[in-house]
This record gives sequence, C-alpha cells and structure tokens, in this order.
Amino acid sequence: MDNSRRSFIKISALGASGIAISATAFGSISNNALMKDSLLAKSVNLKRSATYCEVCFWKCAAWAYTDENNNIKKIIGNEIDPHCEGRLCPRGTGGVGMYADEDRLKTPLIRTSINGKDTFREASWEEALTLVASKMKTIKDKYGAESMALLKHGSPGSHLEHLFKAYGSDTIGEPAYAQCRGPRETGFGLTFGSWIGSPEPTDIRDTKCLVLIGSHIGENMHNSQVQEMADAIDNNATIITVDPRLSTAASKSKYWLAIKPATDIALLLSWMHVLIYEDIYNKKYVEQYAYGFDELKEHVKNYTPEWAYGITTIKPEDIRKTAREMAAAAPATIIHPGRHVVWYGDDSQRERAIAILNGLLGSWGNRGGFYFKEKVKVPKFPHPPYPHPKWGWEELGEKYPYAEMGITQELVNASLPDTDSKHKIKAWFVAGTNLVNTLPQQAKTIKAIEALDFMVVLDTMPMEITGFADVVLPECTYLERYDGIRSATNREPSIALRAPAVKPKYDSQPAWWVAKQIGEKLGLGDYFKYDDFEEVIAWQLNKMGTSLEEMKKVGVKKYERTSGPLFLEEGQPYEFATNTGKVELYSTDLASNGFDPMPVYTAHPEPEQGFYRLNYGRSPMHTFSRTINNPYLSDLKDENKLWVNPKVARIEGLTNEQEVWLINQDGVVSTFPIKVRVTERIRWDSVYMYHGFGHNNEKLTRAYGKGISDQELITRVAIDPLMGGTGLRGNFVKILIEKPTKEERV
Ligand code: SF4
Repeated sequence: MDNSRRSFIKISALGASGIAISATAFGSISNNALMKDSLLAKSVNLKRSATYCEVCFWKCAAWAYTDENNNIKKIIGNEIDPHCEGRLCPRGTGGVGMYADEDRLKTPLIRTSINGKDTFREASWEEALTLVASKMKTIKDKYGAESMALLKHGSPGSHLEHLFKAYGSDTIGEPAYAQCRGPRETGFGLTFGSWIGSPEPTDIRDTKCLVLIGSHIGENMHNSQVQEMADAIDNNATIITVDPRLSTAASKSKYWLAIKPATDIALLLSWMHVLIYEDIYNKKYVEQYAYGFDELKEHVKNYTPEWAYGITTIKPEDIRKTAREMAAAAPATIIHPGRHVVWYGDDSQRERAIAILNGLLGSWGNRGGFYFKEKVKVPKFPHPPYPHPKWGWEELGEKYPYAEMGITQELVNASLPDTDSKHKIKAWFVAGTNLVNTLPQQAKTIKAIEALDFMVVLDTMPMEITGFADVVLPECTYLERYDGIRSATNREPSIALRAPAVKPKYDSQPAWWVAKQIGEKLGLGDYFKYDDFEEVIAWQLNKMGTSLEEMKKVGVKKYERTSGPLFLEEGQPYEFATNTGKVELYSTDLASNGFDPMPVYTAHPEPEQGFYRLNYGRSPMHTFSRTINNPYLSDLKDENKLWVNPKVARIEGLTNEQEVWLINQDGVVSTFPIKVRVTERIRWDSVYMYHGFGHNNEKLTRAYGKGISDQELITRVAIDPLMGGTGLRGNFVKILIEKPTKEERV
C-alpha cells in the first residue's frame, strides 16, 4: 500500500499562510470567497489576536488576523503550540465560517403562542435573562436546585458549570463522556491507574508499530496526532488497522484486518494468547510492573487464533503475524485506545483488553508507546464555597460504579414523565450540544424535553435543539470572546489564551457574560466578582508567572515539567495508581465489585436477513453536526453518502449516486434520502456513512435535508455496566429504493 506522507496527510501541507495554503491541500476550498480575500490580504496591515480553535475539542492555539475594518481575514496555527505545531486542520482554517455564517442565532428568542400556535418572538437580553433567572428560582423553590440539569459541550460549559454549582445543582452531564470516550478512561484507569485524557499521551512520532482498532486517525483530523502519524509513516513504522471499512488509515497500513463487526474482543484475546504462548511478550516489564500475569495466561489459554478466526473472520496466520510485529517493535508499540469507543456495551472491557495488550508489550511509560503526561494547574479565581446539593449526577448514575462524570442518558431518564428515578429533573439548560441529534433514541429525548417545565438553550446556531426551547440565547463564536485558559496534558505543560479577535456580531454574547448576568439576577453576585472575564484571566496569568499582555503577544506559554521524565528509566521502580500499585492485567477492583477481572468475549446481535449493520464515522471536513452548515466547510462536503459493498449493490439493485432511504430494526425511517456510494472499501455485512448530516431544521439553510442523520436511526443501545456508556453500533438498517409513505414513517 502507498505509505507516502504527502498522500496521507493533507494537514501537513498547511503552512504559515493558514487558510490560503489550505486551498492547495483541498482543491474545493479555493472556491471560497473568504479564502480569496485572504490571498489578497497580504498588502493589508493586519492585527493578530491569540485564540484557540473551538471547531473541535483538540483546541489548537491559533492567531486570528483582522484588518482595519475588523474583518477576520485568516486564522493560522500558533507555531509553538504542541496541539498543532503551527498548522490548523481544514476544519480549523474554516473556523472563521462559524463567525461568518449568516444563519447564526442573532438575538434572544422567547417561545410564545400566537393563535394557539407555538412560535418564537425576539426579545432583549434583559427580558430573556430575567425570564431564565425567574424560572430557575421557581424550580429551586418548588423542587430544589438539583432538579435543574446542565447539559453541555465545549468551552461555554465551564462558565455555566460555575453558575450551576453556585446555584446548588451538580446535575451536570455531557455527551462527550457516555456517548464517546468514557469507556476508554475506565478501561485504562483500571489497568494503569490513569485516564487517557485529551490529547492522548501516545508517543506516535517515535512509535515503531501503531495499531488502530476502529480508530480513524486521518479522518478525525486530531491535529498533532495526525501530524505524528505522518512522521511515523515516514519513519517506516508498521501500521496495523482493524476495521470493517478501508479507512484512510487502513489504506496506509501494512495490515488491514477487515474484522467482522462486534468481534474485536475475540481478536484482542487471541493476540494476548500469541504474545504469551509464543513467549514474545515483554518479560522484563511484566515481571517488574504487572500484576496477575499467571491468571491472564490461564485465562487466554484457549483463545487461539484458530478460535478467533471462527468469530472475527481474520485468518490465524494474520493474527499471528500481526502479534509478532507488535512484539518485535515493543515497547515502541501502541495499541491505540481510540476515541469514540461506545460500540457494543462491553466497551470498558474491550478497552481493558487494549490496555492489557499495551501492558504485555510494555508500552505504557516507554518511548514509542505512551508517555507520562503533564499539565499545569490554573488557579481558581476566588469565590465563596459552593453549596452541597442533596443529589446530582453521581446519584443518578449510581448503578454504574465506574462512572466518573454525568451520564447524559441517565439525566434524560430522570426527566421522563413516567420516570421511576427517585430524583426527578424538571428543567434543562443546554449549552453547545445539539442533544436531539447527539443522543441515541431521539424519540425518548424529545419525550423528556416535552415533559420539562422549562428549557433554555445557549448556542451559536439554530440547531434542532433550539426549536424545543422556551428561551434561546445566541452565543457569540470563539472568535468574539474570552474563555478559560486552555491547559491540557501533553509532553510538556502549556497554556493558551483565547481573546476576542472581533466584537460579537449581531446581538450575541459570550457564555461567561450570560452566566454572570443570570447569577446576579439569582442573588449569586459574590460568585461573579468581575466586570469582564478578562479580569479573571489576568488574575490567573499573574499567579502563573505571566501576564495578559505577554499572553496576547505569544498566545501559548510552555512550562517545565515537574513530575519527572517522560518515560521510565531502565529498571526504574514505579508505582501505578491501582490497588496493587502495578499494571493490573487482572483487575482486583473489578473482581471485588463482581465484574469479570479479565475481559471475556460475548457474541452480540447480528443483522437479520436483508439488514446491514449501521456503521458511522467522521468526515475530515466536519466535527459532529455543528459544522455542517459552516459556509466554508459545507463547500467542501455538504452531504454524506451510504457506502455499500458491490455485493450489496448487486443484491439490492443499487447504483452509484442512486437515492435511497433507510429503515432500522425498530421501524424508524430516515427523514431524508441518501446517495449510494458503491465501494469495495466496506464489508458486505455493514453500511457506512459520515456522522452529523441530515439536519431537519430549515433555518440551517446549507445543511437542511442534506443526507441522513445516523443518529435518528440509532434507537437500540447496549449499556456498559461499568460506567454507563451507550453502545451505539448494534443498529441495523434495510435499504429502501422507494420513498416511504407517511404511514411507513415512525
Ligand atoms: S484539530 Fe482542527 S478543528 Fe480541531 S481544534 Fe485543531 S484546528 Fe481546530
């Protein structure tokens, strides 16, 4: 397969000229008016402002350039930032489209009824925020502050979280946990005593063998990680990709293992078998640092490659060959934990299996494996102590002993009119997350919303969720506001500043301002003792040995490590933060809580005749559903397609570009049609589409009706018994050639 760096990694073609250069990387971007402007901007005297990108959670530090008329001309990566190494991904360079989008929410809206019909009327901020505060007061008086939940995503969430904690509610959740990365934190936490966190502490640039299991690096565009993978490819690292689809990463791999979906644990167990029974695991590492090797050896005794072949459809010789490649490269081998890992309900255990393999290879704490990450602590701006809520996210998720954050669907369950939860939720504050298109079981989410006494939504765009709100608050974009100082784990600690490049457009406001106004109206002014969030940042930066002035000039500041070296020294004693102080191949914690201490393979439901497993993933041009309407990114990709194998195309009588509808196992029919893409790159038992498309809010003028929303077809979830994650990949669809009648729709 073609292992050339240039053909793999478009991100690395981005240079100092940001958007303009990205036009060469992605041909279609050059059609964009703003991009042409930026080419002309060279002669103009531009001012630069420090920011960090909010198009995805990687939070790359950047410079936003504005002209003398306060027009944003371009955004480029901050050259010293470890998250981006001076280069933004195509989505990041298109981030200015969030600012420019004329479909943005422009003014506060309040739900009203005209002639018996619900509609929105425009309102002033004063009226809208007074209404929100008075409703929050009523909820608190009537049911207790705990009955008001915060559902959030991204930077605005932290401002609202402060408001909620001051108000007395810890009923807080975000889809990024139970609908995305939660299981890997549990699996790795139980094994190594450490969360993975973000960015992942994977030493990809030095690795000799990278194993990706359903992880789409290169399509998910997580910036520095993608750049490191390009370096690894340049350095002839072996890439092994396990995926029912020939992903971009798979196309650059030495081995593409086109696994039968839902059988990954069987493959992982058989890899352990080969490493142990061929005696090629990292003996020194295991002897010094691991606990439970003998139990694991016994456990995997019968999980031979021949056993796994019957389950995974991967040939025994390929299982052996790939295990030997991993062992030969160890400890510079990474079995990547992935990111969106909520698949089949046994996800924490699959992540345990991945962690155990890394343990057998000695990857954790070794160059080319996982480094010991570090971040710098940002001091808390002084405020009175928060009150203690009587209940919150922990009580709602108490049946999941390893949940470490709010489980979104448990918050939804406690909001249902017929809930049997002893704790009832009566109102939601939704910030920056399009819940109806983000959570599975859309009908349930809508039922919960309809039962609420009150719902307020803060967002930049008229996403589907705004249509259900009582009050809609227009948030300004990241280019128009201050937010908290970015401090993330990395090889060396660093901080980044986000300062406004331009004034908020229309009548929009930053989340910090919204939280402060509501707080003051609720009599919580002592928690917001500043006029501008700039004061909070300036105070924090002074405490951190720098200043707002300095950060405005540099954007990013790096700090020395204080926790010790990045990697273990030869034979160095080390205590892992587990019960035994060791890498737990056998989990003492799981055993004492009555769970399998070592992962086991369980068969998952298979599609019935005529149905195909619905698989989904990331388009490199988009982040979730929030970027689909972005004028610059929708220029690059404005609809998703249904990938079908030629065998399926023959059986179903499909041709390329033909429009089809989908119906799932529970009779839910897609709202819109989707065009077919016939390709060998997907197995015959699955279909695949990019996530985030198929918007049904007409106010999103570019995104409306383009493609299918995978989320509306995900009505069956398999819950992870350890931490409450929602396994989403057990849904099956049938392909409909004819447009379904109204009666056929659920
Ligand atoms: S990876 Fe891309 S979209 Fe994400 S923060 Fe970085 S530049 Fe922005």
